[in-house]
Formats: sequence, C-alpha cells, structure tokens
Amino acid sequence: MVRRGEVRRDIRNGVVVNSIVHALPRACYVHVPFCAHRCGYCDFTLIARRPDLVDDYLTALAVELATLSQPQTVDTLFFGGGTPTYLSAHQLRRLCELFRHWMILDSGYEWSVEANPTDLTNDKLDVLREAGVNRISLGVQSFDADQLKLLERDHDGMVARDAIARLRERFENVSLDLIFGVPGQTLEQWHATLEQAIALGVQHISTYGLTFERGTQFWSKRTKGMIASVPEETERAMYEAAMDRLPRQGYLQYEISNFAQPGFACRHNQTYWRAEPFFGFGPGAASLLRGVRRTNHRSVTTWIRRTLAGEPSVGEQEELDQEAAAREAVMLGLRQCHGIELAAFEQRFGTSLRSLAPEAYDHFVKAALLERSSTHVWLTCEGRCLADSVILEFL
Ligand code: SF4
Repeated sequence: MVRRGEVRRDIRNGVVVNSIVHALPRACYVHVPFCAHRCGYCDFTLIARRPDLVDDYLTALAVELATLSQPQTVDTLFFGGGTPTYLSAHQLRRLCELFRHWMILDSGYEWSVEANPTDLTNDKLDVLREAGVNRISLGVQSFDADQLKLLERDHDGMVARDAIARLRERFENVSLDLIFGVPGQTLEQWHATLEQAIALGVQHISTYGLTFERGTQFWSKRTKGMIASVPEETERAMYEAAMDRLPRQGYLQYEISNFAQPGFACRHNQTYWRAEPFFGFGPGAASLLRGVRRTNHRSVTTWIRRTLAGEPSVGEQEELDQEAAAREAVMLGLRQCHGIELAAFEQRFGTSLRSLAPEAYDHFVKAALLERSSTHVWLTCEGRCLADSVILEFL
C-alpha cells in the first residue's frame, strides 16, 4: 500500500516512473490584509487605513470559499495578516462564522489568530474565544518605547503587557513575536526584552531578526543613511542569546525562529516546514494543493474586485516537479531543529537528500554546520546562524 505523500513507482511503457501521491490538505491559512498603518519595515500584503474595504473583503472571501465543492476537514486554521484584529468585533464574528462553515475543525484542532496589542478590546477577544479560537499570536516586537517608536508600532510596553494579561485569562496558548536587530538596539536591551517576555509566562515566543526589504521605507532610509543596521556580530549575538536563554526557561527551540513550552509548538506552521499541502484564502495567500502552488493576487483591491466579479484572482501558479518539490522540502525541513528524516525524504521524493547537492552537503557536515545521525540530518547551532547560506546550496 502506498500512503499519501509517498512516491509511487509505476511502470509505464517499460519505464519506471516516480509520482508523488498527494495528501489532502489538513491546514488552512486566511490572509486578513488590513492594518491601521504600514510599519516602515513591513512588506506584507496589506492595505492601511481602509476599514471601508473590510465588508467587501469578507464577501469576496465567501465567494472564494464557495469554490470548494464542500466543507473540508482540517487540523489547523490560521488567520494571519496584516492584522486580523483590525476588524470590528462584528466583522471578526462574520469572518469566524464563514470559516466555521467551510472548515470542519477536527478534534484537537489548533486555530490561531494574529493580533495587535492596540486593537485587542475585550469584545473582540470574546468573539474569538466563543468562535473556538484557541491560540493567539501577538505582535509585541518589543517592550521598549524607543524601539517601538522606531518600528512605527502603535503600542507601548504597558499596552502590550495589559493585552497579554487579558489574553492569558481567555486563551491557554499565547505566543509573542519579538524583533531583534532594531537600529540602535544594544545586546543588553535585547536581553531585557527576552527577560520581560519570559516573565509574562506565555507558551510560545518567536524571535525575528529585522530585515530591510527592498521597497520598504526602512530600505530607503538605510540607503539614505538615516538609519543603520546593527553590526552583524551584534545581531548574531542577539540570536545566540535567544537560543541560549529561552531553552533554559523551558522554551524549547523547535525551528530557526520559534521557541515553545512542551506541547505548544505551532502545528499550523509545522505543516509548511514539512512541505505538506494547505489551503490559502485572501489576497496574497498561497496554497499548495496536489503539488501546485498558487498565490493569490497581492493587490487587495484587485483581489476583491476580481473575486467579486467571478474572475480568476490567482497571481502566480507553479507546478512543482519532483526535484523542485524535493529541494523545497529541504529548504523548509532544515528550518526545523530536529531536521529531516532521511528515509522518509527518500521514500517521498525518490532521491536522497545528499544527492541534491553532494559537495555542499559533505562540506557543511565537515564544517559542523550540518549534523547527521543514522536517521536524520539537521542544522547545528552554528548552522542556524548561517541558515540562509546553507539552505541556498540545496536550491
Ligand atoms: S502591524 Fe504588522 S502587518 Fe501591519 S504593517 Fe505593521 S508589521 Fe506589517
């Protein structure tokens, strides 16, 4: 018997042909592309200060969901953004009801919603909890007033702490996003941010190094010399501090940027890192279905207009052949701290991981950036610091 996700070897015209047996999606991502303001470092798909578009967006989502022939059963549902909690309580209820209709949540499900501290009124929290949301990911980024101002965030440390306290009263799984490498930030300040996050007793902490994406205000400000990246060695020391401090406080690192108390790793994101299929809805949302990755149009207004008009709203579409799928699985799988299971990889893609880049593989093992056992290969701590360069060699 061939299980889903494995390679099936067929003989066609006397030639052995490998073909992937595609699994059914068990995860669903919904992009909510609204924010009060576009932060200077952000290049996500969103539209700022347009509450007038939310009702049309919700109607368009209903149209997009109706392209499914029937409701689907999933293990994880994730509302990301943008800022889902930018919606009013009434609009959030409409959004939740829409997905409760089309996505049947299997027992033990995980339903995450990204939130912004400033938007978190108690009535919105109650709507989410009553709908069945059981995980909130809060974009705190920092507790330091100067850093938050530089990042153009609209909350301060007190607002963030108050939001976390109210979240913890209602949800058993609360995650914080933190950013390091903010211009002017010192290693000591980053240590203080980590300590404050730990003291709040949340279940999950994500730490991201600030990136300067082309096209953002931060990119142009840095080009003009108005702000500067923190020195590379300081940024690395900040990342190493997170990898050292958080596990000692019970937050086990399970992915390059993610730390969780036991049992609280984000199951939805693990779907991506295992290169498993998933549904995606909303502008800019990607889906991976039957080996085809589709990304919806990134313009919020274009996506709404086309979807409501019954026109195609997919911006890009790519069918992954077996080798491309294998390389992508390495790129994603190496992000996980336990790495990639070699036998399962070979069974799924019909090729060994090493065969994708034999010289680089041997070099990285020798340089102690990759470590392997008889069953797995994974990035070492040093390898995680240089993850982008290592992974690039397999693409
Ligand atoms: S709140 Fe988040 S999603 Fe919205 S603009 Fe700022 S960084 Fe981007």
